[in-house]
Amino acid sequence: MGRLFQGAVVVDPMTGQSRVLDLLVEGQMIAQIGVDLETSSHEVIDLRGLHVLPGLIDPHVHLREPGQTHKETIETGTMAAAAGGFTQICCMPNTSPIVDSSEWVTFIRTTADRFGYATVHPIAAITKGSKGEELTDFDALKKAGAVGFSDDGRGVQSARVMRDALMAAKLLDLPIIVHAEDETLSGAGCMNAGDVAQQLQVPGILSSAETVMIARDVILAQETGAHVHMCHVSPEAAVSVIRYAKQQHVHVTAEVTPHHLLLTDELVLTLGAQAKVNPPLRSEADRAACVRGLLDGTLDMVATDHAPHTEEEKARGLVSGPFGFVGLEVSFPLLYTAFVKSGILSLEKLAYMMSTAPAKHFHLPGGRIEVGGLADFVAVDIAHERRVDVARFRSKGRNTPFVNRMLYGFPVMTIHRGQTVFLDAQ
Ligand SMILES: [Zn+2]
Repeated sequence: MGRLFQGAVVVDPMTGQSRVLDLLVEGQMIAQIGVDLETSSHEVIDLRGLHVLPGLIDPHVHLREPGQTHKETIETGTMAAAAGGFTQICCMPNTSPIVDSSEWVTFIRTTADRFGYATVHPIAAITKGSKGEELTDFDALKKAGAVGFSDDGRGVQSARVMRDALMAAKLLDLPIIVHAEDETLSGAGCMNAGDVAQQLQVPGILSSAETVMIARDVILAQETGAHVHMCHVSPEAAVSVIRYAKQQHVHVTAEVTPHHLLLTDELVLTLGAQAKVNPPLRSEADRAACVRGLLDGTLDMVATDHAPHTEEEKARGLVSGPFGFVGLEVSFPLLYTAFVKSGILSLEKLAYMMSTAPAKHFHLPGGRIEVGGLADFVAVDIAHERRVDVARFRSKGRNTPFVNRMLYGFPVMTIHRGQTVFLDAQ
């Protein structure tokens, strides 16, 4: 006996075609896809009126465990992923301690598998303790399951260390994942350097702090032939540098967050620390450039940069509160509402950017719905509008600037390896 998911519009990001189909799941796999499949010997799940997408894949999540379990745990983070339609996530190593040993990579994977809400692919640190000095053991980390290397949270300040990292990662065919921030330029800034920071008389973070390092690292990627992946791109000039690098056939990929696509630093005037994120929300010109970059393929994929913090921490204010937003549970509805419902982007393209592209560039399974493939998919409701209600988040974090937004496209049911890991009864 299998589980027959009946009557949803199944979105195919590869062909750009969507059709009303039935999906038969047996065990962890999709056994059959077709019109009016035979039902008698199966459990039937009625999905009429919903759209089914391949399980979303988030290349950039902070799970906070080990260490800061008051902010998030692997359990709550993967529950939040499931609620947001994500069946696979990559998690960043800037936990406490830093994930710079194969033991911690194994711990994260096996803990996530034990709960079963989503598959977690750890990203291991580039340097020991993310101090930017001595490379970690890439070979051992890959064997333990790391899918790439990053000192996210900090930029690797030394070009020499970055070049050595790229050489080592190339031998293993894994990406170096860049948090681009030249600390001699970002300094003690708490928001974008611009008119709003001046008005509030707070220290700003220059766009160049990000763009300078992106430029450096595409040059190093060109020289070494390694794959460099740029995290959470935010300034217009950085989008231009990446566009140019791609024209030069540098192996560079890039991600952009929903908040950099939708918000600007003006929001700091009303939300204060609730609008504090790194890299910061930037100007309208930067935001528009990120949207153009996503539409023309310069920015390959969407990442949430899900970064939970407690209310007490955020309450410390704009200058001393921590950087970061949660994102897993609102990203798809935010982008569906802003770009698909408004006619800027097709649903198939958005599914590509939130599932197929990360699978392709990080060599992960999934990213499409096919016979013989993993039964990882999400059913979303694009017909009904709903409020972003942080009280219902599975994440421990409530720190989102999108609180109370009215959105379409919330996930209704998430299937991970054939199992229902999220079901919204409402
Ligand atoms: Zn980062």
